[in-house]
Amino acid sequence: MEPRGKEFLARLQSEVLVFDGAMGTMLFEAGLVDGACPELWNETHRDVVRNIHTAYFNASSDFVETNTFGGTRLKLGAYGLADRTRELNVLGARLARSVCPPGKYVAGSIGPTGHLPDTFEPLGDTSEEEFYANFREQALALAEGGVDLFAVETMMYPEEAVIAIRAVRESTGLPVMCSMFFQWEKDQNRDRTMWGTSPEEAARILFEAGADVVGCNCGDGGPGRAAAIIQAMRGVSDGLLITYPNAGLPRIQGGRTIYELPPDEMAAGYPPILDAGANIVGACCGSTPTHIARLAEVVRKRRTK
Ligand SMILES: [Zn+2]
Repeated sequence: MEPRGKEFLARLQSEVLVFDGAMGTMLFEAGLVDGACPELWNETHRDVVRNIHTAYFNASSDFVETNTFGGTRLKLGAYGLADRTRELNVLGARLARSVCPPGKYVAGSIGPTGHLPDTFEPLGDTSEEEFYANFREQALALAEGGVDLFAVETMMYPEEAVIAIRAVRESTGLPVMCSMFFQWEKDQNRDRTMWGTSPEEAARILFEAGADVVGCNCGDGGPGRAAAIIQAMRGVSDGLLITYPNAGLPRIQGGRTIYELPPDEMAAGYPPILDAGANIVGACCGSTPTHIARLAEVVRKRRTK
């Protein structure tokens, strides 16, 4: 394991670290159009991507993640960019690395492929080997570009997450965080993945697969549900937990997507997340550097208590 990755995990034994906020919605604000490939901006709009990383570091993020959420061959293939998989991931890692201050870290973002396993009838079309090869290829390229650890994220069902964790670990040896997307099933007041997995089951499965940090990100419930999910996971595990929820629900206003939680309102939801036992907090879709600055203040207050 690279020394920085080791140091990152060691620090979590005694302190809460702050992750970054949204990349995708920031790119849309900067002019990325629907249907365009966000990872291509690692080449065509390097300054934009770099400046977003810098803004998060300046807002007190202890680590940021690369602009490579859709960087698997399967995903990039949908844009006709499959043969640029290695290059776009290496570039993404280098951009974040180039602005990472000493004592802070870079996580390689790995999102779902958007495909289902061929064992899922009738929609599945992808073999375990193909999933594995996709995640291995992306992980190796991100490691080549200099990431310290990985953020396997927004996973919709455990099978794909487990293969991603294994592929990353076996090909790089770097620490792996893995977080899943949960929906709040309001009628039953419970949180489940789209395929019905509970937070408790997810924590057990992902830790068993070898993840160093487990949790939830994105989702429709904002900080309130993130606290409930972390509490459920904490009930079955004393492992390291992470959450980075969306800034509330999106709505369309004048052709633009607006998220309902401004920075102060969002930050007000973080003390219960820390009470529930989260070791890392950040924010997902709709959040900005200002959101991160506010929630970092909440974390800092706890640190000095
Ligand atoms: Zn999100």
